[in-house]
Amino acid sequence: MSAQLRIGNKLPKNKKNSNIRVITLAEVENISGQEGNFDVTVKINPRYTTEGCTGCGKCAEVCPVERANDFNFGLDKTKAAYLPQPFAFPMKYVIDSAVCLGASCGKCVEACEVKAVDLAMAAKTMNINVGAVIWATGWDSYDIAKLHNYGSGTVANAISNIMMERLAALQGPPTVKSFAHPMVKSLRILPLYSVRVPVMRTTRRHAPLYAVWQH
Ligand code: SF4
Ligand code: SF4
Repeated sequence: MSAQLRIGNKLPKNKKNSNIRVITLAEVENISGQEGNFDVTVKINPRYTTEGCTGCGKCAEVCPVERANDFNFGLDKTKAAYLPQPFAFPMKYVIDSAVCLGASCGKCVEACEVKAVDLAMAAKTMNINVGAVIWATGWDSYDIAKLHNYGSGTVANAISNIMMERLAALQGPPTVKSFAHPMVKSLRILPLYSVRVPVMRTTRRHAPLYAVWQH
């Protein structure tokens, strides 16, 4: 289970804890002050859907634009209006402004029965005073295209362990579709061995490689 899912599963329970406030789509822009008294400036990026979003998905059904699904490491696609992941918190659709056609399209606005789409939503800034800051940056998946000594970057369809995790997940991308090729009729995925990767930015120190057979 990925860290994103682990944390995502706990967030709804924490919502009932009045001592915990979860701010999503947020970027810390500035921190000043000292221990016990920090002023933090936080930018809240727009979701383009309001609190009224029920997560019904009708906006995605009518959306004509597709984008790479970053939660599945580009192995499949989502619409420009999409749920970031199966256990998203909050369980609300978001619109990718980088690919959305905007008001000239507006199909999602028409499709949303509860009028929860707001294509004009803008970023906001908020200031918070806190006693302590925990610096938890998260991580990016290691770019396996850099593992030239194992053929990655030159061998077609080489995938990382975290991509394999998504392929094996119940709600992950369809395997054959992810490796779409006219010659591919079925796939066999065989774990090979662990590769020690000393400069990984992940919490894992070993990156298993997988061989994908095409028939
Ligand atoms: S924005 Fe509207 S149509 Fe899209 S998931 Fe939310 S409620 Fe449904
Ligand atoms: S306005 Fe954007 S998100 Fe809505 S349907 Fe059109 S492309 Fe998709």
